[in-house]
Amino acid sequence: MQKISVIGTGYVGLVTGACLAEFGNVVICVDNDFEKIEELKKGQIPIFEPELEDTIKKNVYSKRLFFSTDIKSSIVKSDVIFIAVSTPSLDDGTCDIKNVLQVAEDIGLHMNSYKVIINKSTVPMGTGERIKNIISDTLMRKNKKYLFDVVSNPEFLREGSAVYDFTHPDRIVLGFEKSMVREILKDIYKNIYVKGIPIIETNVETAEMIKYASNAFLAMKITFINEIAELCEKVGANVKDVALAMGKDPRIGPYFLKPGPGYGGSCFPKDTKALVKMGKDFDAPITLIEQTIIANEIQKQKVVKRIKNEIGLLEGKAITILGITFKANTDDLREAPSLAIIEQLVMEGANIKVYDPKGEKEGRQRFSYIDNKIKFCKDEFEALYDAAALVILTEWDQFKDMDLNKIKKCMSGNYFFDVRNLYERSKVEQKGFKYYGLGV
Ligand code: NAD
Repeated sequence: MQKISVIGTGYVGLVTGACLAEFGNVVICVDNDFEKIEELKKGQIPIFEPELEDTIKKNVYSKRLFFSTDIKSSIVKSDVIFIAVSTPSLDDGTCDIKNVLQVAEDIGLHMNSYKVIINKSTVPMGTGERIKNIISDTLMRKNKKYLFDVVSNPEFLREGSAVYDFTHPDRIVLGFEKSMVREILKDIYKNIYVKGIPIIETNVETAEMIKYASNAFLAMKITFINEIAELCEKVGANVKDVALAMGKDPRIGPYFLKPGPGYGGSCFPKDTKALVKMGKDFDAPITLIEQTIIANEIQKQKVVKRIKNEIGLLEGKAITILGITFKANTDDLREAPSLAIIEQLVMEGANIKVYDPKGEKEGRQRFSYIDNKIKFCKDEFEALYDAAALVILTEWDQFKDMDLNKIKKCMSGNYFFDVRNLYERSKVEQKGFKYYGLGV
């Protein structure tokens, strides 16, 4: 059993803290957001993530999981400190690591014994070294001498299945300098080591690079199939069959071959931009990803263009959007394609009605600047009442098999834009809709 602090209690930090407690460690989840920590202390979970609430409650009850804003006492009480703070994009695409460096300084200031510092935030190559230097400099300034190790342990969990992914990862990547730290890592992740899941041990810079290369590749794969879908449509091919057949090739694999409104979320957009920026800075351009970013922006515009082409003038038209989160099973709207698509539809004069099972709270904040043009509804049927068109933007399970007869009766128009290819064209057309999928 290890005494652990996880600094940064967001999607990654909170899941990491809860799951490490579930593995039997004693964990303090730390954040400088007082409101968030107060909520957690009262048993309120600030984000939606399947299985998270139960895991937190169980481990709080068992006195293995605690919440705090007191970074000093959390560092003092812990042998192992995870960093899981936000690393947003700067305007030029650079990954802003000031939160990570702040935590490194805090660790240096309050260190009272040997510590292992494990970074889970996605950071540019070389950040591990900077963490190490900041801690060393701070210790020196304070005239203190303690040994410590810095490990890069990038996180690959997917929002929407984060608890499952953390406890059943495809691989664990560990970048470190001294092999002495291996036993501590083995102890923290004992539940995963015993499952025989691949553990990739490497140096810190390689571990940092693995995260960027993985995310950029996945973003590229999504963008690839989005472009192929458009060509399929023009030549009378069906992208679902194309993807199915491509996916059977083990060199390609079946995942991330579903066309949609473009990738979003807190990772792919910022990580692709950061990789491109690093490529330019080091004179090793990553041109495929430069193009991926452009194509992904175009993909969102294509959705609006398609709607305009089919409906004509959007002024005063009632359009229903089903799903605004960037993917299903999350409440996260960071960089969601819906943000750009809805904004554009509103600029064209459309009146928008929205239903999302978990995205309303964040949606109301993000769209507050156009709130007179958007109505949030309690379910899909309220949202569809008197609508000219339906646009499915997020692949929530409950949108996959809706009662088409009931929908038809609710709506005044018959445009059915299935931007996630959830339906069979023939079934929807049979009910009297005009169906538009992507590449089908
Ligand atoms: P988040 O915004 O949900 O959470 C970050 C938390 O860090 C916030 O609660 C914030 O208040 C806190 N924080 C920031 N600076 C702090 C400081 N100095 N001291 C204490 N707390 C501080 O972010 P996230 O989605 O959890 O992502 C965290 C990191 O993990 C990022 O680098 C991200 O790229 C990476 N990551 C995210 C995902 C994902 O799916 N969200 C997956 C893998 C990796």
